[in-house]
Amino acid sequence: MPFTSLGLAPSLAQAAANLGFTAPTPIQAEAMPIVLRGDDLLATAQTGSGKTAAFALPLLQRWLSTPPTTGTRPLLTLVLVPTRELAAQVGEVFRSLAEPLTRRPKIVVAFGGVSINPQMMALRGGADIVVATPGRLLDLIDNNALKLGSVQHLVLDEADRLLDLGFADELGRLLAQLPPRRQTLFFSATFAPAVETLANSMLQDPERVEV
Ligand code: AMP
Repeated sequence: MPFTSLGLAPSLAQAAANLGFTAPTPIQAEAMPIVLRGDDLLATAQTGSGKTAAFALPLLQRWLSTPPTTGTRPLLTLVLVPTRELAAQVGEVFRSLAEPLTRRPKIVVAFGGVSINPQMMALRGGADIVVATPGRLLDLIDNNALKLGSVQHLVLDEADRLLDLGFADELGRLLAQLPPRRQTLFFSATFAPAVETLANSMLQDPERVEV
Protein backbone atom coordinates (compact mmCIF):
# COMPACT_ATOMS: atom_id res chain seq x y z
CA MET A 1 0.00 0.00 0.00
CA PRO A 2 1.52 3.37 -0.95
CA PHE A 3 1.67 6.26 1.53
CA THR A 4 -0.52 8.38 -0.76
CA SER A 5 -3.47 6.01 -0.31
CA LEU A 6 -3.42 7.00 3.40
CA GLY A 7 -3.98 10.62 2.39
CA LEU A 8 -0.34 11.64 2.43
CA ALA A 9 0.65 14.29 -0.11
CA PRO A 10 2.92 13.14 -2.97
CA SER A 11 5.70 15.50 -1.82
CA LEU A 12 5.80 13.82 1.60
CA ALA A 13 5.47 10.32 0.16
CA GLN A 14 8.51 11.21 -1.94
CA ALA A 15 10.34 12.52 1.15
CA ALA A 16 9.63 9.19 2.85
CA ALA A 17 10.82 7.27 -0.21
CA ASN A 18 14.09 9.25 -0.14
CA LEU A 19 14.72 7.71 3.30
CA GLY A 20 13.91 4.25 1.97
CA PHE A 21 10.37 4.22 3.36
CA THR A 22 8.35 2.94 0.43
CA ALA A 23 5.46 1.33 2.29
CA PRO A 24 3.96 2.31 5.66
CA THR A 25 4.62 0.21 8.76
CA PRO A 26 1.46 -0.96 10.60
CA ILE A 27 1.51 1.97 13.07
CA GLN A 28 1.97 4.39 10.18
CA ALA A 29 -0.92 2.86 8.22
CA GLU A 30 -3.22 3.13 11.23
CA ALA A 31 -2.12 6.45 12.70
CA MET A 32 -1.64 8.64 9.63
CA PRO A 33 -5.29 8.99 8.56
CA ILE A 34 -6.23 9.81 12.18
CA VAL A 35 -3.51 12.48 12.48
CA LEU A 36 -4.45 13.96 9.09
CA ARG A 37 -8.12 14.18 10.19
CA GLY A 38 -7.08 16.14 13.26
CA ASP A 39 -8.37 13.61 15.80
CA ASP A 40 -6.67 12.74 19.08
CA LEU A 41 -4.69 9.51 19.14
CA LEU A 42 -3.80 7.05 21.86
CA ALA A 43 -1.22 4.67 20.44
CA THR A 44 0.51 1.68 21.93
CA ALA A 45 3.77 1.62 20.02
CA GLN A 46 7.26 0.29 20.65
CA THR A 47 10.54 1.79 19.55
CA GLY A 48 11.36 0.35 16.14
CA SER A 49 7.72 0.36 14.99
CA GLY A 50 8.17 3.45 12.83
CA LYS A 51 6.17 5.59 15.29
CA THR A 52 8.27 8.71 14.66
CA ALA A 53 7.39 8.96 10.97
CA ALA A 54 3.81 7.97 11.90
CA PHE A 55 3.40 11.41 13.49
CA ALA A 56 6.13 13.39 11.67
CA LEU A 57 4.80 12.81 8.13
CA PRO A 58 1.16 13.82 8.76
CA LEU A 59 2.17 16.71 11.06
CA LEU A 60 4.45 18.08 8.34
CA GLN A 61 1.49 17.84 5.98
CA ARG A 62 -0.71 19.75 8.43
CA TRP A 63 1.98 22.43 8.68
CA LEU A 64 2.24 22.66 4.87
CA SER A 65 -1.48 23.40 4.75
CA THR A 66 -1.13 26.45 7.04
CA PRO A 67 -0.66 29.83 5.34
CA PRO A 68 2.91 31.21 5.54
CA THR A 69 3.30 33.94 8.16
CA THR A 70 5.49 37.01 8.13
CA GLY A 71 7.43 37.97 11.23
CA THR A 72 7.72 35.65 14.22
CA ARG A 73 6.73 32.08 13.43
CA PRO A 74 3.92 30.88 15.70
CA LEU A 75 4.73 27.50 17.23
CA LEU A 76 2.30 25.03 15.66
CA THR A 77 3.66 21.62 16.66
CA LEU A 78 5.22 20.61 19.98
CA VAL A 79 6.75 17.17 20.53
CA LEU A 80 7.62 16.25 24.12
CA VAL A 81 10.16 13.47 24.63
CA PRO A 82 11.83 11.97 27.72
CA THR A 83 15.52 12.14 26.78
CA ARG A 84 18.04 14.19 24.87
CA GLU A 85 18.85 11.19 22.64
CA LEU A 86 15.23 10.83 21.63
CA ALA A 87 14.91 14.61 21.11
CA ALA A 88 17.88 14.57 18.73
CA GLN A 89 16.56 11.48 16.95
CA VAL A 90 13.01 12.80 16.49
CA GLY A 91 14.33 16.19 15.38
CA GLU A 92 16.48 14.46 12.79
CA VAL A 93 13.51 12.52 11.40
CA PHE A 94 11.53 15.77 11.01
CA ARG A 95 14.52 17.47 9.37
CA SER A 96 15.22 14.61 6.95
CA LEU A 97 11.57 14.39 5.92
CA ALA A 98 11.29 18.18 5.49
CA GLU A 99 14.54 18.49 3.57
CA PRO A 100 13.19 17.93 0.02
CA LEU A 101 10.08 20.08 0.53
CA THR A 102 9.81 23.35 -1.36
CA ARG A 103 8.52 25.07 1.78
CA ARG A 104 10.40 23.99 4.87
CA PRO A 105 9.45 24.45 8.51
CA LYS A 106 11.84 25.80 11.10
CA ILE A 107 12.51 22.94 13.49
CA VAL A 108 14.18 23.51 16.88
CA VAL A 109 15.36 20.74 19.19
CA ALA A 110 15.83 21.57 22.89
CA PHE A 111 17.04 19.39 25.78
CA GLY A 112 18.73 19.84 29.11
CA GLY A 113 22.28 19.09 30.15
CA VAL A 114 23.76 21.58 27.68
CA SER A 115 23.93 25.40 27.61
CA ILE A 116 20.53 27.04 27.12
CA ASN A 117 21.91 30.00 25.14
CA PRO A 118 22.22 28.37 21.70
CA GLN A 119 18.68 27.05 22.11
CA MET A 120 17.43 30.55 22.98
CA MET A 121 19.22 31.91 19.91
CA ALA A 122 17.69 29.18 17.75
CA LEU A 123 14.22 30.20 18.93
CA ARG A 124 14.67 33.84 17.92
CA GLY A 125 12.07 34.62 15.29
CA GLY A 126 10.02 31.67 16.54
CA ALA A 127 9.83 28.09 15.29
CA ASP A 128 7.20 26.01 13.52
CA ILE A 129 8.05 22.71 15.18
CA VAL A 130 9.78 22.22 18.55
CA VAL A 131 11.00 18.87 19.87
CA ALA A 132 11.92 19.15 23.54
CA THR A 133 12.38 17.54 26.92
CA PRO A 134 9.94 18.98 29.49
CA GLY A 135 12.39 20.56 31.96
CA ARG A 136 14.36 22.49 29.36
CA LEU A 137 11.16 23.57 27.62
CA LEU A 138 9.94 25.13 30.89
CA ASP A 139 13.31 26.88 31.31
CA LEU A 140 13.00 28.31 27.80
CA ILE A 141 9.46 29.53 28.52
CA ASP A 142 10.64 31.10 31.80
CA ASN A 143 13.33 32.89 29.75
CA ASN A 144 10.67 34.18 27.32
CA ALA A 145 12.28 32.25 24.47
CA LEU A 146 8.94 30.79 23.40
CA LYS A 147 5.24 30.57 24.24
CA LEU A 148 2.83 27.68 23.86
CA GLY A 149 -0.37 29.64 23.17
CA SER A 150 -0.36 28.92 19.42
CA VAL A 151 0.29 25.16 19.61
CA GLN A 152 -2.27 23.17 17.61
CA HIS A 153 -0.59 19.75 17.65
CA LEU A 154 0.95 18.20 20.76
CA VAL A 155 2.80 14.88 20.70
CA LEU A 156 3.82 12.92 23.78
CA ASP A 157 6.40 10.42 22.65
CA GLU A 158 7.30 7.55 24.99
CA ALA A 159 4.86 8.85 27.61
CA ASP A 160 5.62 5.94 29.95
CA ARG A 161 9.29 6.95 30.05
CA LEU A 162 8.35 10.60 30.61
CA LEU A 163 6.57 9.48 33.79
CA ASP A 164 9.31 6.99 34.78
CA LEU A 165 11.84 9.81 34.59
CA GLY A 166 9.75 11.93 36.96
CA PHE A 167 8.38 14.51 34.52
CA ALA A 168 4.77 14.44 35.82
CA ASP A 169 4.99 17.91 37.45
CA GLU A 170 6.67 19.43 34.41
CA LEU A 171 4.01 17.94 32.13
CA GLY A 172 1.29 19.43 34.33
CA ARG A 173 2.86 22.87 34.15
CA LEU A 174 3.24 22.63 30.37
CA LEU A 175 -0.33 21.40 29.89
CA ALA A 176 -1.65 24.43 31.76
CA GLN A 177 0.00 26.65 29.14
CA LEU A 178 -1.28 24.77 26.10
CA PRO A 179 -4.49 25.77 24.34
CA PRO A 180 -7.30 23.39 25.36
CA ARG A 181 -8.44 23.22 21.73
CA ARG A 182 -5.61 21.28 20.11
CA GLN A 183 -4.83 17.87 18.69
CA THR A 184 -2.97 15.54 21.07
CA LEU A 185 -1.10 12.41 19.99
CA PHE A 186 -0.08 10.12 22.84
CA PHE A 187 2.43 7.34 22.27
CA SER A 188 3.49 4.84 24.91
CA ALA A 189 4.96 1.35 24.91
CA THR A 190 3.15 0.42 28.15
CA PHE A 191 -0.05 1.55 29.89
CA ALA A 192 0.34 1.33 33.66
CA PRO A 193 -2.42 3.16 35.63
CA ALA A 194 -0.38 6.39 35.89
CA VAL A 195 0.06 6.44 32.12
CA GLU A 196 -3.70 5.88 31.63
CA THR A 197 -4.44 8.74 34.02
CA LEU A 198 -2.09 11.06 32.15
CA ALA A 199 -3.64 10.03 28.82
CA ASN A 200 -7.16 10.64 30.13
CA SER A 201 -6.18 14.10 31.36
CA MET A 202 -4.79 15.12 27.97
CA LEU A 203 -6.86 13.44 25.29
CA GLN A 204 -10.34 14.19 23.97
CA ASP A 205 -12.26 11.25 22.57
CA PRO A 206 -9.09 9.63 21.17
CA GLU A 207 -8.85 7.01 18.48
CA ARG A 208 -6.98 4.00 19.86
CA VAL A 209 -4.29 2.23 17.87
CA GLU A 210 -2.42 -0.84 19.01
CA VAL A 211 0.17 -2.54 16.84
P1 AMP B 1 11.02 4.46 15.11
O1 AMP B 1 10.12 3.41 15.69
O2 AMP B 1 10.29 5.70 14.71
O3 AMP B 1 12.21 4.73 15.99
O4 AMP B 1 11.61 3.88 13.72
C1 AMP B 1 12.33 2.68 13.68
C2 AMP B 1 13.15 2.53 12.41
O5 AMP B 1 12.31 2.22 11.30
C3 AMP B 1 13.93 3.75 12.02
O6 AMP B 1 15.26 3.35 11.70
C4 AMP B 1 13.24 4.26 10.76
O7 AMP B 1 14.15 4.87 9.89
C5 AMP B 1 12.63 3.01 10.17
N1 AMP B 1 11.38 3.23 9.43
C6 AMP B 1 10.36 4.03 9.80
N2 AMP B 1 9.34 3.95 8.92
C7 AMP B 1 9.73 3.09 7.95
C8 AMP B 1 9.09 2.59 6.75
N3 AMP B 1 7.87 2.97 6.39
N4 AMP B 1 9.78 1.71 5.99
C9 AMP B 1 11.02 1.31 6.38
N5 AMP B 1 11.67 1.73 7.49
C10 AMP B 1 11.03 2.62 8.28
